[in-house]
Amino acid sequence: MDKVEYLREQLTGLEKAGLRNQIRHIDGPQGAWINVDGRRVLNFCSNNYLGLADDERLIAAAKAALDRYGIGPGAVRTIAGTMTIHDELERRLAAFKGVEAAISFQAGFVANAGAIPALVDAGDVIVTDELNHASIIDGVRLARAARKIYKHADMSDLDAQLATARAEGARRILVITDGVFSMDGDVAPLDAIVDTADRYAAMVMVDDAHGEGVLGRGGRGIVDHFGLSGRVEVEVGTMSKAFGVVGGYVAGPQPVVDWLRQRARPFLFSSAATPPDVAACIASVDILSESTELVDRLWMNARRFREGMQSLGFDTGFTQTPITPVMLGDEKVARELSQRLFDIHQVFAQAIAYPTVPMGKARIRVMISAAHERGDLDHGLEAFAAAGREMGIVE
Ligand SMILES: *Cc1c(COP(=O)(O)O)cnc(C)c1O
Repeated sequence: MDKVEYLREQLTGLEKAGLRNQIRHIDGPQGAWINVDGRRVLNFCSNNYLGLADDERLIAAAKAALDRYGIGPGAVRTIAGTMTIHDELERRLAAFKGVEAAISFQAGFVANAGAIPALVDAGDVIVTDELNHASIIDGVRLARAARKIYKHADMSDLDAQLATARAEGARRILVITDGVFSMDGDVAPLDAIVDTADRYAAMVMVDDAHGEGVLGRGGRGIVDHFGLSGRVEVEVGTMSKAFGVVGGYVAGPQPVVDWLRQRARPFLFSSAATPPDVAACIASVDILSESTELVDRLWMNARRFREGMQSLGFDTGFTQTPITPVMLGDEKVARELSQRLFDIHQVFAQAIAYPTVPMGKARIRVMISAAHERGDLDHGLEAFAAAGREMGIVE
């Protein structure tokens, strides 16, 4: 009896339902144009918001760190894996975010999975937005605190869940939200969330993975965007999107960071980030600290593309960020348009369908970057216009 036959059957099931992930292969660096499965295409898919993923300053910093520190960290952070550059990155991040302290992790996913179970425990309650990222969901599952889920960005439901948690005798409460929701590009009403949480003496944690380097002054993130400095206990971020490298972090008051250094399990039990990655992260934070140029260009590009799509007759949903969903509804239509864009028009823009978004809400999600030139955006708009007409989606 083949013990993994059930997996073959499950994979066939995914295949039949059209739900099996097709993984594309990129040959060469990230950028406005990339080589995908042997074809040169306009990149509308990556989270490289500021074009830093192949920036020569980051690459030079990584090379210098390789020479000075080598490639491997050798240990977890709490044993022998904390190199001077890890401390340096944490100081720069805290300064950039305008908070007391920061702790870095190997990834944003790891930051959530490590921080949430360390911050709350049995007797506590986590109140979480129903559309929060998978890494938050997993972090919540790992925690021994009870969980309550509120309707997406619905402040009266948040209030009701908090009232119930208090009535049930919760010791501590932690409200968790994504900063920017990555499928629609909408921004969490963080000002209202903080006001509501305050009424119940609840802590607030925001995962700013898609807001970092995008929202706020010079990309300082959602807390800066809403002017909520000092009112959010836990800011989670990633170094893998706008910052262009890989890694994650938690920024906030000193006791939060000090406690995570004692109890966040990936900090204690998984090896530190590698020296070249950390050095590239530092270079990236420096670039953002010094100039708003890339962030300004990102927003200019995003506005230009969104307005162009709208005037062509496409529905771009209710995005408030450079994430530009092209709402199509039908799963097959979204997939066919994406395929046509790729095969005929040299545009790489992924279709997103059930179960990532609800049934009947399929879309193509265009990720705009500061790396796009004006001509790239025009190419993208012409491609959507042509493919959209071929399929009768627009006139
Ligand atoms: C991408 C993302 C993460 C994961 O970050 P990585 O650094 O890629 O692990 C976590 N949370 C949110 C909201 C994200 O969008």
